[in-house]
Amino acid sequence: MYTSTRDSKLSLTSQQALKTGFAPDGGLYVLPTFTKLDLEAILAVPYQEQAVQVLLALLPDFGEATLRQAVTAAYGDNFSDPQITPVHTVGETHYLELFHGPTSAFKDIGLQLLPRLLQAALAANDRVLILAATSGDTGKAALEGFKDVPQTGIATFYPDGGVSPIQERQMTTTGGQNTTVAAISGNFDDAQSAVKAMLNDHALQAQLSPVQLSVANSINIGRLAPQVVYYFAAYRQLVQAGTIQVGERVNFTVPTGNFGDVLAGYYAKQLGLPVNKFIVATNANSEVSDFLATGVYDRNRQFLKTSSPSMDIQISSNLERLLYYKSNGDSALVAQLMQSLADTGRYQVPADLLAAIQADFVGGKAQDTEVLAAIRAVADAHGYLMDPHTAVGYVVQQRLALAGPTVLLATASPFKFPQVVAEAALGEHYADGFEAMQVLASAYHQAIPQPLAQLADLPIRHHQLLQPAQMPEFVAQFAQEVL
Ligand SMILES: *Cc1c(COP(=O)(O)O)cnc(C)c1O
Repeated sequence: MYTSTRDSKLSLTSQQALKTGFAPDGGLYVLPTFTKLDLEAILAVPYQEQAVQVLLALLPDFGEATLRQAVTAAYGDNFSDPQITPVHTVGETHYLELFHGPTSAFKDIGLQLLPRLLQAALAANDRVLILAATSGDTGKAALEGFKDVPQTGIATFYPDGGVSPIQERQMTTTGGQNTTVAAISGNFDDAQSAVKAMLNDHALQAQLSPVQLSVANSINIGRLAPQVVYYFAAYRQLVQAGTIQVGERVNFTVPTGNFGDVLAGYYAKQLGLPVNKFIVATNANSEVSDFLATGVYDRNRQFLKTSSPSMDIQISSNLERLLYYKSNGDSALVAQLMQSLADTGRYQVPADLLAAIQADFVGGKAQDTEVLAAIRAVADAHGYLMDPHTAVGYVVQQRLALAGPTVLLATASPFKFPQVVAEAALGEHYADGFEAMQVLASAYHQAIPQPLAQLADLPIRHHQLLQPAQMPEFVAQFAQEVL
């Protein structure tokens, strides 16, 4: 049974946890203990079967038949690579490419599956409105995942001017009868805080009833659980390639914002995957990597816009789950730390908790100048294009140079950030993202992912700009229209 990071007396099924997103006390849903998987067995099967085994361990009450059906529908030819998440070794670097899904970022792994799981968990007369705050990639992946899924609607909010032009275009051209998108005046944390406030707004909930609100961000365990799978998939491919022996420990480098992706890796380790360290790579918004070095989380600093917008995040929600696990389920302590974060923007963990965290995680940050130089260096040396988020990981991985094989999570397609990548790799500035895509494709002999190539021709269907205070009314109106 799941419980809350802030109240270990709470107990609910994974279906209930997935439907509601996060706990009434503001905490996140966690499984207090993990049962190890049979490593040999999970390394013997392809991605989809690995997914069934992982999900059965993390979301047991869905049952194997439902999980298998959802997995089969979620990971098929909507991914352009049969491995779903192929490992691509270039020079010394093992890139785990997570961007072969319909929206070209790793968010597809969670968001192609979550709607199918949610649907399975809904009763016939349930209606759920999904709210998603996005720093760029979650929004489109959530829209695509929930588009025209019965009994659901999806409203996505992104910071105005805070996402790449291609990311914005992806969202504003979204089709479907149950989707809406709005830009918010403010940054990602403003959008995320406003979404959290709506989820705790009892007056709004009464107004919306019987429609329930839920979340598609990585605080939802239905997002997190599917991401655990690709750590096993990566390991399997390294074994198959002869890079490692079964049982050998590997490191994973994870470009990090909300700490969802890297936390999924930690779950994989708890399920028995042999991992040495997780390298947590941040851009100049380095609250998390600083925390890993000092034990002090402090968001009282300037918000910086970088070339990796999906990581321009100051409040890293999923870190709360790690605090819960590493304090051995001390939900009173977690509640106290989170209260301190809400009140003062800062908290400090006890020394023993920090030591426990540092046993598994090491942080580092990359400045934009280093990111651009790395994109260029790898493109020049190998003809391989990294997107700016992946390049943040690359810079930190190179600097730390840990012993043993290390897998770098490639979190987005370079074609999602074509202007930054073209400027870095070729030294040319393009005002038009679509032109930059074409130039990169021909210079590096790569195909532009089909959904991105088509974007230029799609009509823009969503062009709202809201103040955060206007969001509840916008949501109420949308719920009435579509649910
Ligand atoms: C969301 C995102 C990240 C950060 O992932 P978290 O789970 O928030 O840590 C990194 N890179 C890209 C491309 C993303 O879209």
